Amino acid sequence: MPIEVNVVYVSFFSLSQVYPVMVSKDQNQLKETATPTLEQPQLTHSSTTPLLGANLAELTAWVLSQGQPSYRGRQLHEWIYQKGVRSLAEISVFPKQWRSTVADSLGRSTLHHRSVASDGTVKYLLRLADERVIETVGIPTEKRLTVCVSTQVGCPMACDFCATGKGGFNRNLARHEIIDQVLTVQEDFQRRVSHVVFMGMGEPLLNTENVVGAIKSLNEDVGISQRAMTLSTVGIPERIRQLAQHQLQFTLAVSLHASNQALREKLIPSARRYPLVDLLAECREYVQMTGRRVTFEYILLAGVNDLPEQAAELAQLLRGFQSHVNLIPYNPIRDADYHRPTSRRIQAFCNILKQEHIAVSVRYSRGMDADAACGQLRATQS
Ligand code: SAH
Repeated sequence: MPIEVNVVYVSFFSLSQVYPVMVSKDQNQLKETATPTLEQPQLTHSSTTPLLGANLAELTAWVLSQGQPSYRGRQLHEWIYQKGVRSLAEISVFPKQWRSTVADSLGRSTLHHRSVASDGTVKYLLRLADERVIETVGIPTEKRLTVCVSTQVGCPMACDFCATGKGGFNRNLARHEIIDQVLTVQEDFQRRVSHVVFMGMGEPLLNTENVVGAIKSLNEDVGISQRAMTLSTVGIPERIRQLAQHQLQFTLAVSLHASNQALREKLIPSARRYPLVDLLAECREYVQMTGRRVTFEYILLAGVNDLPEQAAELAQLLRGFQSHVNLIPYNPIRDADYHRPTSRRIQAFCNILKQEHIAVSVRYSRGMDADAACGQLRATQS
């Protein structure tokens, strides 16, 4: 059988040190792996499904199918999720001859660009197997390392204040492409990721199956607590209810952004097909079904939705709701004519909610000077 030498790039510890490694592959295998199934993760690995995203039982089944002893399944699991290898060829505890015949990229992305903001936030542009590029953000503090992950290439929701929506939509991310983002940040910082927020490019509830699969894998395989994860959605009819049925422990954040239907429709085109009353009714059901409170996100746009009467209207809307409001001062983007309110206006809005006994906090996004803040992700190298 003809043997072709293929060069893949393998990073062992840091993305700033990328080493080319020679890997042998026979041509048949190359042909089969050229068109991976990206939408539907399968239970068992085939030449078209990456091993990344498979759990211990699935990995064990796969090594057995390769004629290897079952304990290699645990080894494989550890090397993929704890050591963060990018190809089977790197797994030194595996027999050399076997490694070279099944050399496989496992489903990891490659680094296309990396930029660091002055506050230490790192923005990554990651290249996927089909050459598409997505953004991921690593946000370090003394105690936490948070990853903001993308769930789609682009976003179809087209919210007027968000750069991602202005770039259009391409496709959903597969489960392994979501997990890969977390492993990439962990590897670059050489530090355990403690928190994951599904707030990067895309609308997670248009890709629920892969997102839920990724949450479970990040929890069970990578070891991140579900309670340290937040999923942010603009709201898709019926999907919040469906999500509740999974009985997961992450925090649900809903992008409200307006205190009434008319204003919400102006800012969020999809709101026309999903009235605010219906969205809030579904959120109430979510709270009942899960026993977990919901976070409401409210972007603050000067002169648009930051007036005192709008704060009062919002308080009225959320009265008695087991929730927390996160006020997000607008982060400037190109192609949008909005402004961030002054600190005084932000504080005044916050105080009105507090007076009305609404749990509220102001969330200033990190990474603004690298275009890595909320709403600024457009897969460009600024
Ligand atoms: N599609 C999901 C995730 C989007 S990003 C959602 O809509 O919730 C996470 C948050 O950032 C959302 O609340 C989103 O509305 C907000 N956001 C978008 N553009 C922004 C901007 N320019 N400034 C501040 N927040 C923004």
